[in-house]
Amino acid sequence: MKIDIIGGGPAGMYFAILMKKTDPAHRITVYERNGPDDTFGWGVVFSGKTLRNLRAADEASHSEITRNFEAWDNVDVVRGDEKISIHGNSFSGIARLQLLKILQRRCEALGIQLLFRTEVTDLDSLRNGCDLLLAADGVNSTARKQYSNHFLPSLDVRPNRYIWFGTNRLFHGLTLTFRENEDGVFVAHSYKFNKNTSTFIIECDQPTWTNAGFDTMSSDATREYLEQVFQKDLDNAPLLSNKSNWLNFVIVKNDNWFFENVVQLGDALHTAHFSIGSGTKLAMEDAIALHECFEAAETVGNALRQFELIRKPVIEAYQAAAYESMRWFENASDYMGLSPIELAYALMTRSGRVDYEKLRERSPDFIARYEAKDNANNGTAVGPPA
Ligand SMILES: Cc1cc2nc3c(=O)[nH]c(=O)nc-3n(C[C@H](O)[C@H](O)[C@H](O)COP(=O)(O)OP(=O)(O)OC[C@H]3O[C@@H](n4cnc5c(N)ncnc54)[C@H](O)[C@@H]3O)c2cc1C
Repeated sequence: MKIDIIGGGPAGMYFAILMKKTDPAHRITVYERNGPDDTFGWGVVFSGKTLRNLRAADEASHSEITRNFEAWDNVDVVRGDEKISIHGNSFSGIARLQLLKILQRRCEALGIQLLFRTEVTDLDSLRNGCDLLLAADGVNSTARKQYSNHFLPSLDVRPNRYIWFGTNRLFHGLTLTFRENEDGVFVAHSYKFNKNTSTFIIECDQPTWTNAGFDTMSSDATREYLEQVFQKDLDNAPLLSNKSNWLNFVIVKNDNWFFENVVQLGDALHTAHFSIGSGTKLAMEDAIALHECFEAAETVGNALRQFELIRKPVIEAYQAAAYESMRWFENASDYMGLSPIELAYALMTRSGRVDYEKLRERSPDFIARYEAKDNANNGTAVGPPA
């Protein structure tokens, strides 16, 4: 088959690897508008379960990924002077650039053509000249826009603002830090992803953002302001910028995932809020699922139909959990009256995927502390305000 792929992110390259590995006769080209070393952001996270999926799909890239990552099992919730640790959450972090380099090397070793600094604009010519056109061109997908009458996408731009920094202060575990000042509430999502760097994403609601005056503030002044808010947590380490700008999260959905020989994958197809850390995982697991459909089907049409049929319910369930999680952070200021232990419990159970029983199994110390608090409240159940 001749396969053309728009986008050299995790979704596009991983699908190329799996297809080429199965059948070296496939002629696969990946078109990427950026250079091989350009990337946005800092680190990404994978759960233990995702790593098992990656191992089953491609042992070679899995072993390179696991050689380079930082693992942890705790979520830390920081409020005031207290840090509450919840264990039993197995996660690993890796630099996004490092992940891309591993996938690039694997593509090259398998004989996949990677065309960097090549922006695809003429989609019709491309799709007429290949058996399969994969649109793995990210959240701002050109293919999704151009073929919107086929895909019927919906885009939900959320009200919160977020900005993605790095820092050399190491956060050993997924650390969620809540800080308030006269402008409002700021939440930081942070975790280490190599020996000397952590991701540090800061989120706030629109009124806080406006009160702080970020709309007219320069990049340097913004960074300094936020360093001040999280001074104690950063231990005076600076925030590191990589074209870091304020963004609004966009929930992407598509009614139709394919038409004729064109299919979407990864962020182009769907997004799930970063607070459940699943974008790269979903992109790579999409690639695994689509590859499996090509293994089982006789024709491109059947493979794409089967892909939408089996994968859509999985993605819908993730997006539903991610939606609850995102809404919790959008309403974070409502929870600031809770004590740190109550806040940690509300946070851990926010998406509905983790409940009291699961927490008791995974982190008995945390639940014991939570119950002690419950008793101190004279038996009144603790939880978020009504
Ligand atoms: C703040 C933030 C934090 C995140 N944290 C995490 C996390 O902790 N864990 C996690 O798993 N995920 C995280 N993500 C999400 C993650 O970055 C994405 O979900 C993931 O990169 C999706 O992979 P993709 O291959 O679909 O798209 P991308 O990685 O976006 O790749 C798409 C590629 O297509 C290229 N492209 C676009 N248009 C064209 C064109 N016309 N021609 C040629 N090339 C083109 C782009 O340059 C890009 O390289 C986070 C995202 C954000 C915004």
